Amino acid sequence: MSVTHALEADVLRRQDPELAEILLAEGHRQSTTLQLSAAENFASPAVLAALGSPLANKYAEGYPGARHHGGCEIADVAETLAVERARALFGAEHANVQSHSGSSAVLAAYAALLRPGDTVLALGLPHGGHLTHGSPANFSGRWFDFVGYGVDAESGLIDHDQVRTLARTRRPKAIVCGSIAYPRHLDYAFFREVADEVGAYLIADAAHPIGLVAGGAAPSPVPYADLVCATTHKVLRGPRGGMILCGGELAERVDRAVFPFTQGGAQMHTIAAKAVAFGEAATDAFAAYARQVVANARALAAVLTAEGFAVTTGGTDTHLLTCDPAPLGVDGRTARGRLAAAGIVLECCPLPHGDARGLRLGTAAVTTQGMGQAEMARIGALLAAVLRGATDASGARARVRELTGAFPPYPP
Ligand SMILES: *Cc1c(COP(=O)(O)O)cnc(C)c1O
Repeated sequence: MSVTHALEADVLRRQDPELAEILLAEGHRQSTTLQLSAAENFASPAVLAALGSPLANKYAEGYPGARHHGGCEIADVAETLAVERARALFGAEHANVQSHSGSSAVLAAYAALLRPGDTVLALGLPHGGHLTHGSPANFSGRWFDFVGYGVDAESGLIDHDQVRTLARTRRPKAIVCGSIAYPRHLDYAFFREVADEVGAYLIADAAHPIGLVAGGAAPSPVPYADLVCATTHKVLRGPRGGMILCGGELAERVDRAVFPFTQGGAQMHTIAAKAVAFGEAATDAFAAYARQVVANARALAAVLTAEGFAVTTGGTDTHLLTCDPAPLGVDGRTARGRLAAAGIVLECCPLPHGDARGLRLGTAAVTTQGMGQAEMARIGALLAAVLRGATDASGARARVRELTGAFPPYPP
């Protein structure tokens, strides 16, 4: 049953037509524009069904078998299932599936391992670090002493020499590897080696690639990092939420850092939906999906390069790529606005060189819709046509509608 269908049949329509209209409009927006945001995906109807399930009513502070609320016997089974599926999927000794978001998972990871004032080495925000990697506007930058490493201005690749040098001179308590915009696989063995050399913990913030890891399309940080933080809603295609994976010896510290240190009651409906997503991610179909996501991103990178965009690192290993549209005569912010007017949704991102903003694109959502390399070629050509002014917004919108019409995210 499609989501639109569910909504139409839904009691919401009768009780609150105003809000129901808003949800229908959002469904329409998602299915008639191109979702190239690297952080988004289309969760399955089964995941959405779990989110709208009676577990949304359940209070369940604590962990299975040790709850503060009564009536948790079914909730316990749901959470245990989610934990067991996550452990099996990622080969981790322990999984905490309660984090409300990727940022909450990172907060709990720091709480488990660090004290306020500790030094932490992470990819600097101007080079693709996340807000939780030391932004002054975030708890991380206020409570810890972050030292940023960067990417090489020419190659766009992480400067490993700089990581090693900063680790030796600043002696961080933890090293964070992970990014919102890095298109290549991280060398987790390298980060582990540096962390061991200086006696630091290694935290992998795999919010983006964890879905590729689940599908076997990217290397796993689990054997290398002390803690792996992740989201469940990006390539992994589950509900909005977070997760932490670790070895058995840190399990209790991690659990206590999530609840009661940084969170209250677990969102049991979301945990049930995470279990559904982990179940989906363990299938051959998901492995094929993950491979196609990467093949599509590579195809898109190739077309954009041919169209004149400066693609960072010359391509991608993952679901995302970043590029500078300057050779087409527009800066990143202008490009994002023009593409939005054409029904193409994506974000700006930092670029390795200078302060100019680039564009970040991802293929997780369009691949869920069933698009392949041929469609990536059409999308790349359309992007270039819009930014060169070779087509106006309404012409571009018509082509976007044609494409999305052939690949509905929730087929009837
Ligand atoms: C997306 C992301 C997060 C945060 O996830 P939220 O669910 O938005 O809080 C953290 N770290 C990295 C590297 C991310 O890409």
